[in-house]
Amino acid sequence: MAAEVRPRLTVLSGPSGVGKSTVVAHMRKVHPDVWLSVSATTRKPRPGEKHGVQYFFVTDEEFDKLVANGELLEWAEFAGNRYGTPRRAVLDRIEAGEPVLLEIDLQGARQVKESMPESQLVFLAPPSWEELVRRLTGRGTESPEVIQRRLAVAKVELAAEPEFDTTLVNTSVEDVARELLALMAVV
Ligand code: ADP
Ligand code: 5GP
Repeated sequence: MAAEVRPRLTVLSGPSGVGKSTVVAHMRKVHPDVWLSVSATTRKPRPGEKHGVQYFFVTDEEFDKLVANGELLEWAEFAGNRYGTPRRAVLDRIEAGEPVLLEIDLQGARQVKESMPESQLVFLAPPSWEELVRRLTGRGTESPEVIQRRLAVAKVELAAEPEFDTTLVNTSVEDVARELLALMAVV
């Protein structure tokens, strides 16, 4: 008899601009049933982003309340904005035995590993530093100042790769999405 594969919490991290959102969007196109946690953030929406879809866009005061009420599984400040994972929705999915995916930054990944050691941490790496700069600049959604800030953070994040259980290099979106689904035991 085949051993039961227990779905668990998977955390996807990697430097800004490496392609996390693109990979996750592709994965969900292929497997719409895969559940991705929607984070709360104090960042302003980018063009096309919708409240409740990419993020719950909240004010600083609302974020303070989420923290004070213990409603976040983890949270972090990233390049001038705060981001956090609503706790209840994640725990409900895990209790229901469904695989859960979080797309969060390095500080958040560390907090999750600390509070839920059975989770698996997946690092999405760029093919090269030059390609990361190209992607972050090419996305065209941030000012030059914000890009510089994110690149400085990216240097620190790249150095943390050994803390992760698995590294996937984002050369092909399709390949990485497939590998991620396999790690999540969805396929
Ligand atoms: P992140 O969510 O990690 O910040 P995005 O998903 O927004 O990154 O991707 C940043 C840019 O890189 C986007 O313009 C996206 O189209 C592009 N991109 C993502 N993956 C690849 C890839 N494998 N090859 C080439 N370009 C990519
Ligand atoms: P962006 O502003 O580009 O959407 O996200 C910036 C960074 O915040 C990315 O590295 C993304 O993974 C991270 N992030 C998004 N949601 C969360 C969250 O809930 N918690 C943490 N710690 N980081 C998050």
